[in-house]
Amino acid sequence: MLVYLAWFFGVALLHVILPGPKAEGVVLPNGQRLTYKLNAFRIFLLTYGAALYFGFVSRQLDLGWLYDNFAQLLTAAIIFSSGLSVYLYASSFQKGALLSGHGATGYPAYDFWMGRELNPRLLRGAFDLKEFCELYPGMIGWALINLGMAHKQWAATGSITTSMLLVNVFQLYYVMDALWCEKAILTTMDITTDGFGFMLAFGDLAWVPFTFTSCARYLVDYPQHLSPAATCLVLGVKLLGYSIFRGANSQKDMFRANPADPAVAHLRTLKTERGTQLIISGWWGTARHINYFGDWIMGVAWCMPAGVQGLAAVVPYFYCIYFASLLIHRERRDEHACRLKYGKDWDKYCALVRYRIVPYLY
Ligand code: NDP
Repeated sequence: MLVYLAWFFGVALLHVILPGPKAEGVVLPNGQRLTYKLNAFRIFLLTYGAALYFGFVSRQLDLGWLYDNFAQLLTAAIIFSSGLSVYLYASSFQKGALLSGHGATGYPAYDFWMGRELNPRLLRGAFDLKEFCELYPGMIGWALINLGMAHKQWAATGSITTSMLLVNVFQLYYVMDALWCEKAILTTMDITTDGFGFMLAFGDLAWVPFTFTSCARYLVDYPQHLSPAATCLVLGVKLLGYSIFRGANSQKDMFRANPADPAVAHLRTLKTERGTQLIISGWWGTARHINYFGDWIMGVAWCMPAGVQGLAAVVPYFYCIYFASLLIHRERRDEHACRLKYGKDWDKYCALVRYRIVPYLY
């Protein structure tokens, strides 16, 4: 518990004292815009770099301690995020707190779960608790726990298997990408719409770092030696997922930013009464959330290093099983929101692009 608290408050202190660019969030229901300090990537470089150096170069730090104390740290994270949720719920009743639309229903259990207050802040409004918990201790912690698993294997066997390396590199890239693009989080549903309550606090601090690392943890107990062919297969699946994920997201982003851009000007679209256009060819002509499919395939590649033996054990494949349910649920929520936004145009669009996530299947 002491190590967990030192980690959480140490990262919080770094967030406060280290400089970082500032960015404004979206306009809030009360007409205000909040300013955010963005230094997640710097803190990541500092902490992850220190762990690499002291763990693998100077060998002064036994990162395998994270493996040995995994259950204790997980327990600490659960206790801490639950305590934080109680504080968030209680403090949301203070005068002037801006409440979230769906977290302030008056049903205490529901509101505790969803989060009442939209953007709880400390230090006279300078420290945004929700944005901090979304990206800093949990996401960096996820990368560090994976590194701890690799260190444990290295200390025990003198080497790191290709499977462990792949899991670490794949997930490290994902974490770095999220931290590098910190500003992008300011327009996501989590920041603009959801309150900060148990769901996000527990998700950010306990769920993400301790369940997304289950494949790396499994590989310490059951090291898998991938053949060159198996390694190529894993890399191929990762590349396939990444091409779909990046291709689809970039196509939509580019089109939304400038429809006349030569890279997207050829795409067929459906003009809507709302004024925006929905793309109906290219990636977005294959399925209405083809980007989710690409993301999920990448998730499968994260688990595949655990091999067939891992498949039988289920645990190392936890991420892609859980992620499938998350994406299916998210697609339903977005579909509902789009039906409200676009009305009859959405029905026309669904008739033109028939599949939800997986072309010809779902
Ligand atoms: P999308 O990027 O799919 O955005 C959905 C919105 O895009 C719709 O509400 C609509 O908004 C617009 N849109 C939908 N269809 C079209 C179309 N044909 N043409 C143009 N615009 C369209 O969803 P998310 O924000 O949920 O996901 C973004 C990425 O983040 C995904 O790749 C997803 O996999 C990933 N993600 C990862 C998570 C994780 O835990 N790892 C969790 C959640 C998401 P409008 O028309 O108003 O612009």
